[in-house]
Amino acid sequence: MFQIAGRRVWVAGHRGMVGSAIVRRLEREGCEVLTVSRGEVDLRDAQAVAAWIAANRPNLVFLAAATVGGILANDTRPAEFLYDNLAIETAIIHGAHRAGVEKLVFLGSSCIYPKFAEQPIRESALMTGALEPTNQWYAIAKIAGVMLCQAYRAQYGADFISVMPTNLYGPHDNFDLAASHVIPALMRKAHEAKVAGAPAMGVWGTGAPRREFLHVDDLADACVHLARVYSGPDPINAGTGVDLPIKDLAQLICKVVGFQGRLEFDTSKPDGTPRKLLDVSALQSLGWTARIDLEDGLRTTYDWFVQNGAGRRAA
Ligand code: GDP
Repeated sequence: MFQIAGRRVWVAGHRGMVGSAIVRRLEREGCEVLTVSRGEVDLRDAQAVAAWIAANRPNLVFLAAATVGGILANDTRPAEFLYDNLAIETAIIHGAHRAGVEKLVFLGSSCIYPKFAEQPIRESALMTGALEPTNQWYAIAKIAGVMLCQAYRAQYGADFISVMPTNLYGPHDNFDLAASHVIPALMRKAHEAKVAGAPAMGVWGTGAPRREFLHVDDLADACVHLARVYSGPDPINAGTGVDLPIKDLAQLICKVVGFQGRLEFDTSKPDGTPRKLLDVSALQSLGWTARIDLEDGLRTTYDWFVQNGAGRRAA
């Protein structure tokens, strides 16, 4: 058991959807939460990161900083997705090791698994087949992060663990249509179609691919739980264990938003991987299960969007 209360905990990437959820979750832990702004330290800069860690001496690090995006952003900005993420991971993991950080939790992604991995996807499927081409750049960087944690554990005994979240959603998500994942994208489209009184809204692809969605507050809870109870080289999947077709998701979002028009499927846009459902039995056997129901989570996310993001246009 790793004790969190009374410790210094650095959340790298605290402005993002995952990092901000971990910061909110840590408020209940009685620890000192450390954050650093992008203006102060460029997390891709190994020297700056090492100096900041040495000066601030965290005991525990949540590595939630990453360049992230949906299917289109991944496909069109491959250099950024590969370089930024490799640089952030090497800087923080090596810096944490040099400064003697006791525990580090690396946030990976379910897209690191092979495109045609057997479903539900077990952790052991890692590197058993070719990746989905649309997000292979991000996936390779995240696989490198998992292996860095394994390598520092094997060579130096560092207690660095990896968590593989399924598709996430929640407050502070990116609602910019050019870079967003499917939930914020469809929420914005449904909202704008409702406001405009439009007869239909566009959905990319065929609607047939299946995805699993985990609310980011559930993920933050799982990360804190794993920081406390888990120590091992294998990544641990974090999901709900339930998936649904994009078409059903789109209908559920329309219900939540109150848009009653038609869905128009744009098959010139990519479907991506046909199915992505994680096997969450390892996480369950470590004593954690997701709690937030998809429809409830979509409702609170929509409330957040209406209050915080709906007015802002896509960049
Ligand atoms: P993925 O899980 O890595 O494929 O990432 P996304 O969340 O971007 O996409 C999930 C699925 O939703 C894919 O099949 C997309 O084609 C589909 N989708 C439908 N409409 C949209 C949309 O407006 N934006 C995005 N990003 N995906 C959409």
